[in-house]
Amino acid sequence: MKVGILGGGQLGMMLAEAAEQLAIETLVLDPKPDAVAGRVTRHLAADWGDATALDALAACDVVTYEFENVPSETVERLVARVPVHPSPRSLVVSGDRLREKTLFRELGIETAPFAVVDDRAGLDRAIAEVGLPAVLKTRRFGYDGKGQAVLRSAADVEPAWQALGSQALILEGFVDFDREVSVGAARGRDGRTVFWPATENVHVDGILHLSRAPAEQVSEALFARAVEGLEAVMAKLDYVGVLVVEFFQQGEHLIANEMACRVHNSTHWTIEGAATSQFENQIRAVAGLPLGSTATPRPAAMVNLVGELRDLSPLDGERDVFVHVYGKSPEPGRKLGHVTILADTRAELEARIAKVLAVVGDRAAGG
Ligand code: AMP
Repeated sequence: MKVGILGGGQLGMMLAEAAEQLAIETLVLDPKPDAVAGRVTRHLAADWGDATALDALAACDVVTYEFENVPSETVERLVARVPVHPSPRSLVVSGDRLREKTLFRELGIETAPFAVVDDRAGLDRAIAEVGLPAVLKTRRFGYDGKGQAVLRSAADVEPAWQALGSQALILEGFVDFDREVSVGAARGRDGRTVFWPATENVHVDGILHLSRAPAEQVSEALFARAVEGLEAVMAKLDYVGVLVVEFFQQGEHLIANEMACRVHNSTHWTIEGAATSQFENQIRAVAGLPLGSTATPRPAAMVNLVGELRDLSPLDGERDVFVHVYGKSPEPGRKLGHVTILADTRAELEARIAKVLAVVGDRAAGG
């Protein structure tokens, strides 16, 4: 069994590592010559349209992706020759905030109010419909808070239009959330699904900083509704693989913000924290193997290492602390690694998180 992976960043690297544990071969396509997945598996450093590279991928048993902005032409050319999971339709939907929110709404999943913005007059109409405060976002290619502007008052409208108006846009009502939560699932080829517990996420400057799981403030009833929503999305998209949906929590409401049709940073804690990680279940799903248990016996947390790497040696040998360094060159805002933390109790988890943050730097505190 050989799995082709489109995209060779840290997600591709961790997928390849999980596959190796299952004795499954991988082959990664990523145009970047220094893509880190190349450190652990065979990497084709070629353009997305390179015929030889596509031939090599088409010779795999199945192809999946870790990068959602793979050109649609690449995917179309592969689909004609080899099974591609999750379904290319999933990529089309998750790659466009308007389609994504429209799907959520159709399936009865709560979202913030939203309206499409096609031109300057359309922005005024959208503001009239959605109200202020609101968030103006590009429909495509937005990640880690890029390509968006918060409109708090009328004075913010023109500068936001100047910055973003050249692209297709969506306006969303601003959600005054209590916290951000994500839910990860995997669906096998047989349609069977498994769910990891909800994860609570803290972002700093639009980039994930800290995750804790299980999210303590998500009641069983609320989680059950989220599960129903993800089930509906996956059934609709004929989905195979890992899906992660990010929500805003407001009291007993989970308001869907966006979905990732791939393994996701907020679910990295599953490598050590769950019986089966998101990476392993992604490989299992696309390879047609039975999915592994998502049992999560102990509270878990994850801290991202972003922008710069400090001296991490004080964490050497620290019990229940697992350091992952991806081997990427430092750059402001770049995800360079993560640390998983496990504990027996919440209090112990918080103490260990504080200890780790003191070593790696606490972005939430400006460090
Ligand atoms: P996104 O790229 O949609 O994940 O947005 C990045 C971050 O911006 C989110 O994690 C939130 O912290 C914030 N954000 C995005 N959309 C909204 C919204 N409609 N209301 C409030 N905050 C938002």
